[in-house]
Amino acid sequence: MMSEQRLSGKIQTVMGTIDPSVLGATLSHEHVLWDASFLYEEPDDKESTHEPVKIENIEWLRRHGVSSIDNLRLLDENVAIDEVLRFKRAGGGALVDMGNVGLFRDPEGLARVSRATDVHILMGSGYYVGGSHPRELAKRSHDDLVEEMVRDITVGVDGTGICAGILGEIGCSHPLKETEIKVLEAVAEAQRVTGAPVNIHPGRSQSEPMEIIDLFRGFGGDISRTAMSHLSNRHGLDVDLTLELAKTGCYIEYDSFGNYQNPIVLPEKTFFALSDWQRIECIQEFIDHGYLNQILISHDVFNKIDLHRYGGFGYDYIHETVIPMMDMNGMSEEEIHAMLVENPKRFLQFV
Ligand SMILES: [Zn+2]
Repeated sequence: MMSEQRLSGKIQTVMGTIDPSVLGATLSHEHVLWDASFLYEEPDDKESTHEPVKIENIEWLRRHGVSSIDNLRLLDENVAIDEVLRFKRAGGGALVDMGNVGLFRDPEGLARVSRATDVHILMGSGYYVGGSHPRELAKRSHDDLVEEMVRDITVGVDGTGICAGILGEIGCSHPLKETEIKVLEAVAEAQRVTGAPVNIHPGRSQSEPMEIIDLFRGFGGDISRTAMSHLSNRHGLDVDLTLELAKTGCYIEYDSFGNYQNPIVLPEKTFFALSDWQRIECIQEFIDHGYLNQILISHDVFNKIDLHRYGGFGYDYIHETVIPMMDMNGMSEEEIHAMLVENPKRFLQFV
């Protein structure tokens, strides 16, 4: 397979390739149109589970987000447009929609949202966690998977001609499933062929992010062009683990800003999700250790109740609330600019 010279030095959005200099402030991990209903878990409270999202059940949903099908889906483009417009008005320039196979992906829908809002939107390729893998994935060949991902990036997704700009979010569980390992191996080759950036969702364990990096490197993946998601929810306040990971050269992503605080139960320990202030203090530590250029930030909007329309914080929360908090904590404008603009600009460029 030929390497894609055409993409080198460019960022690929759902509207085509752009020069990295026009990207602007970028949310590195979001969902704009999604259907994650495969994650649904039946709760004890059977009555609430079938109710639509409404003000009376928001508090219940904040603690039982996966126990409501309605909460796990956002397919209304007009709502998406309103929400993304608020990000634009707050100073936003671009966001990465991590939807790929398993999460529902609507290239034309994303293109319409991008056109209506004038926000650059990047789309994902590859596969989400094993629980969402299509049955036939286990039987497909390595070459077949690589070809599919390369086609998403170079020709377009599902015959739309709209191309993916990132391999992600590549889903992993704990422990890793056989098909997830197979996907990681195919992603490494698709990355080599296309020069695309990679974003990985690690399984729920403190040690797994590092295990995946080792595995992915073994498959020939370029770690310096790879971001590890959800680290505040995997490492918690054990920042030494994140610092170890940063040493490998990967991007470390703090993508849960604004999210409701719930207990996080991992095999190693149980802890409470960090507050935004704690996240900022951890980020400050990464900066103090010299890793400013590897930090990416986002909200990972993934529940309907994360949106303003449904009582949530929205895509503009980092601009409206987190940046002032960073400023209060003593972070400089240059540091904030690095995390929101310069790092995504470098990371999302094809090599
Ligand atoms: Zn995500």
